[in-house]
This record gives sequence, C-alpha cells and structure tokens, in this order.
Amino acid sequence: MNPLRIFSRAYSTVKVIPTPGITNGFIGAIGNTPLLRLKKLSEETGSDILAKAEFMNPGGSVKDRAALFVVKDAEEKGLIAPGGTVVEGTAGNTGIGLAHVCRAKGYKCVIYMPNTQSQEKIDLLRMLGAEVYPVPAVAFDNPENYNHQAKRHAEKLENAVWTNQFDNTANRRAHIETTGPEIMEQTNGEVDGFVCATGTGGTLAGITRYLKDQKGDNVKVYLADPPGSVLHSYVSTNGKLFERSGSSITEGIGQGRITDNLAPDVKLIDGSFTIPDEETIKMIYRLLDEEGIYVGASSALNVVAAVEMSKKLGKGKKIVTILCDGAYRYQSRLFSRTWLESKKLSTAIPEHLQKYIVL
Ligand code: PMP
Repeated sequence: MNPLRIFSRAYSTVKVIPTPGITNGFIGAIGNTPLLRLKKLSEETGSDILAKAEFMNPGGSVKDRAALFVVKDAEEKGLIAPGGTVVEGTAGNTGIGLAHVCRAKGYKCVIYMPNTQSQEKIDLLRMLGAEVYPVPAVAFDNPENYNHQAKRHAEKLENAVWTNQFDNTANRRAHIETTGPEIMEQTNGEVDGFVCATGTGGTLAGITRYLKDQKGDNVKVYLADPPGSVLHSYVSTNGKLFERSGSSITEGIGQGRITDNLAPDVKLIDGSFTIPDEETIKMIYRLLDEEGIYVGASSALNVVAAVEMSKKLGKGKKIVTILCDGAYRYQSRLFSRTWLESKKLSTAIPEHLQKYIVL
C-alpha cells in the first residue's frame, strides 16, 4: 500500500506525513518529529532556519525522549521492578514525560520541582497521576534543592529509582540515538549549524556529539543561554569563568554548573549566545503571527539564536534548532498583560502583535 495518504480536493492537494503503521502506544509515538522550515525567517536571513517540532512528541515536549531513556536505563540496570516508583527533580517537562511513561509502564511517579514554575505544568502533572512537590527554588549546592529532595525521597522507598536526569547520561544518549540521527536524515546530511539552549544539557550534548561524529568541523554547534545562566560565560572564556548575571522568564533552561550530560561534549561547542528576554518574548509572538506556531519561551529563544547563528555562518546555510514545547504550558503567563507588565516585557511586543495578548 502506498504509505502516503493523499487527500485531493478541488482546490489543492495535501500530502500527509507517511503513516508509520501501528505504533506501540505512547512510548512508540516518541520521537520522529517533523523538521519545520520557518519561512519568513529563512527569507529574511537567506538561510534555511529549520526547527525540530519537539512539541509534537506525545507528551508535548523534547523531554519525552529523555524520560523514556532514563526509565529504560533503570529497567536494564535492574534498579526498578514492576509496580515500582520513579522519582525525579524537574522544571516540569521531564516530569510530564515521566508521568506519561510511568502510566504506560505501570510505575508510580513522584516529582519535585521549583515552585517558580508555571501552574499549568503542576496541574498537568497531577492530572497524569504524579505526586507533585513544588519546593522553594534554591541553588544546587543547597541540600534543599529539588534534585536532592527527589534523591532522598527515592532512597526512603522500596523499589524506587531517582532517575537523576541532570547527571544520568542515558538522557544524552536519547539524543545521540534518536534526535541527532533524525536531524542528519531530515537534512540529507546537509546541516551546517545547530544551536539550542540547555537545562540538563542532554539535548545539546547528545545532538552535538552525533553531528560532530558524522561531520566533524563541517557542522558548527552553538549554545544559547538565557540571562542568569553561566554556560555562555563558560563556553566563551574556554572554561575560565562561571559568571551568573540577571534572570529570565524562560523555564527549563539555564544552568549553573557543567552537568555530567554536558561534560563529555562541552569542548565540541564552537560558540555561544546570550539571548535577552525581550528578544525571546517578541519571537514567541512572531512565530505565532508569521508561522502559526505556538511555542514556549525556550523554543523562541532557540529560534532567535538560530537567526544569530545564520549571521555568523553567512547566507545559504541550513541551521537547525529545537522547538522544545508548546505555549499551552505557560499561556497564563506569556499571554497575560498583567504578567508581561510585571516583567517589563509588554513594550517588547511590537504594536501589530499586541492583539495576541488576550489574558
Ligand atoms: N526547554 C524546556 C521548556 C525544557 O523544559 C527543557 C528541559 N528542562 C529544555 C528546553 C532543555 O532540555 P535539556 O534538559 O535537554 O537541556
């Protein structure tokens, strides 16, 4: 049978993505996301600005891939048996991916997260059956940091694993084995640049490792940081400086240390950018208006960075980045005038895009 379903209408022919046949439930639907060409930005830059639609994963974010890999890793190492509990510290998206994977596999799920994260993520986690503990947002070196609390919680339970996404390199492996190869295949091996922000570093490190293994210096890789993260200062000074300045509206990205996921590949990174929140918020609204794409702040920051990278590499290149998740997860903030004003960001949104501020 022809794997392409073709819907013909009098006015147009729409080709639908090849049907893969039967998929093994939620888990089978993770990955193989489309690579979207962003038309307006590609025209403006003279390069192909290509964005991996990770919001199309079944749990709605790039972190579904890591969630699956860390659970599989725990199973393979015999750290968890049927009926057990997965405990994790997360800004939310890994937790959401884990909550789905745990339901699909019959595990319980316990999530610790900083209480600065959006209500939408907390609500969704609870709706997916996870036990959620929002805790004060303190630094990693404080024993009350959400990750350490998650670890202690798992240690107190029988048949429980702390999946430790920050330093468990099964996270990075998800991107070496899936996202990286997908990008190579979808660009016919012609990817010239890749850029994204990091939380755990799994996405950036895994894709960097795979692309550099395939193409060496023929592909450039950049890191994109929000204000308040130390990685830009680390990368741009060759590891000399860990300078933290400012804070950001972005969730799930920015880092204060070199995680074990990032450590093996950080030397492969060719450069980095810091992207101000004003640019990020404007891009959220531009993507919606110009492309019909409704994504969260880390995705928009990544796209701003892809545009910056196109200026560095020159015209005619293929630059890939990641659309990490949808804006549904943050809409009570990102589309609220009161919230935007409280962050002094409402004026960063151009007049013709103000109509999208509806809350
Ligand atoms: N964007 C969002 C919205 C996230 O939640 C995360 C993960 N915390 C990332 C980007 C970064 O992904 P990674 O952990 O692979 O660096």
